[in-house]
Amino acid sequence: MNEMIKKTKKRLMWLFTVLTMLLLLLFITIAYLTVSKSVLNDQKDKVTQLISDESLGRMIHEASEPRERDFSNNLFAIATEGGEIVNKNNSNIDGLIKDWNPDSLEIKEKDHEDRDYLVAARPLEQAGYAYTAIDITQQKDVLHRLLIVLLLLACLFTFATMGLSFYMAGRSIGPIVQSVRRQREFVNDASHELRTPLSILSAGFEVLEEEEKRTMSAFSQETVEDMRGEVKRMSSLVNDLLFLARTDSEKVSIEKKTFNLSDVAKRSVRSFSTLLGETSLTLTSDIQENISFFGDKEKIRQLIFIFLDNAWKYNNINGSIHVQLTASSQTIHLVVEDSGIGIDAEDQMKIFERFYRVDQSRSRSLGGNGIGLSIADYIVKAHGGKIEVVSKAGQGARFTILIPT
Ligand code: ADP
Repeated sequence: MNEMIKKTKKRLMWLFTVLTMLLLLLFITIAYLTVSKSVLNDQKDKVTQLISDESLGRMIHEASEPRERDFSNNLFAIATEGGEIVNKNNSNIDGLIKDWNPDSLEIKEKDHEDRDYLVAARPLEQAGYAYTAIDITQQKDVLHRLLIVLLLLACLFTFATMGLSFYMAGRSIGPIVQSVRRQREFVNDASHELRTPLSILSAGFEVLEEEEKRTMSAFSQETVEDMRGEVKRMSSLVNDLLFLARTDSEKVSIEKKTFNLSDVAKRSVRSFSTLLGETSLTLTSDIQENISFFGDKEKIRQLIFIFLDNAWKYNNINGSIHVQLTASSQTIHLVVEDSGIGIDAEDQMKIFERFYRVDQSRSRSLGGNGIGLSIADYIVKAHGGKIEVVSKAGQGARFTILIPT
């Protein structure tokens, strides 16, 4: 499957999963906060009710008749204004009310000796303070367990969602995959079909130029030349499209064998300087001798040509191109540097995408279609290498191709 489709499927899966996770977390937070608030509110009502005069009176009375009833869960204490406790039913309350002299009714959550309490305190009309406390350890434990169960369920659901998302993502991009496949087949077939007529046209124009040049008017000669140029441009586009269609369907064969890379680079530079003809561009090279390389010779030749072609297309009138080839024990460095228009930092990553052109009109007028660098990228990756770009707008570009030996 195409890399882009795989990436889209993965992205969709993660998007579904993250969204479900966020929704689950939101649900857990809301559910937990609602339950814990309602439990605590119940307890607050209870402790508030306990500190009323009536309940307090009852507790004091019942405390004076020990063992009649167990007050261990409902604690109370009465203290003087100075903080001295004059009545209480459980010594546990001592640690909960220390230095606490409220001006009005106050309720606080406190923990003491590994237990949780909800404590209420208020000033007494006759001077002093009253305190009541209830043990809420059990409620807190239940809430804690509820949180753990909810989190475990969230983890479980997240894993289930991941599987489901993967399936759903596959299903939702199914039609896109099919349409892309049909498009690819069409591009493949169409480029294949177009190659033969284009070659016939090209050969025909060549014969016309060679044999009929003398009998043709200047205008006809110009027209034939223009048509030949257009056919050449179309052939190159068709070849590029065919290459891309084949890379997509993994039909491009990389035929590796050992060859002299230095010779290939030198020959490419030589042929390219012939193509440059009488332009005022300078092409120089510094190629290390006898670099032997195990790879696809034709594809490497195509690769060098793509970079040289770009260095020429996006250069200034009196600009320069420099090619450098060196090899260390592990890596081959092929550098193509030009003094041309350069590439902005934000465009540097995008230029390897298909059909991306920084300046569409300039590229088109020079016969560019935004495919060259994606083919170069494919070839370099097929040889286990990578491409680095160093450039600034208006200050030329330096492409370094690093391939392991
Ligand atoms: P094209 O056929 O348009 O040249 P490429 O894939 O080879 O397609 O390049 C993509 C785009 O990257 C080009 O349109 C151009 O904007 C930019 N580019 C490539 N090489 C250079 C360079 N040496 N200097 C400046 N811009 C470049």
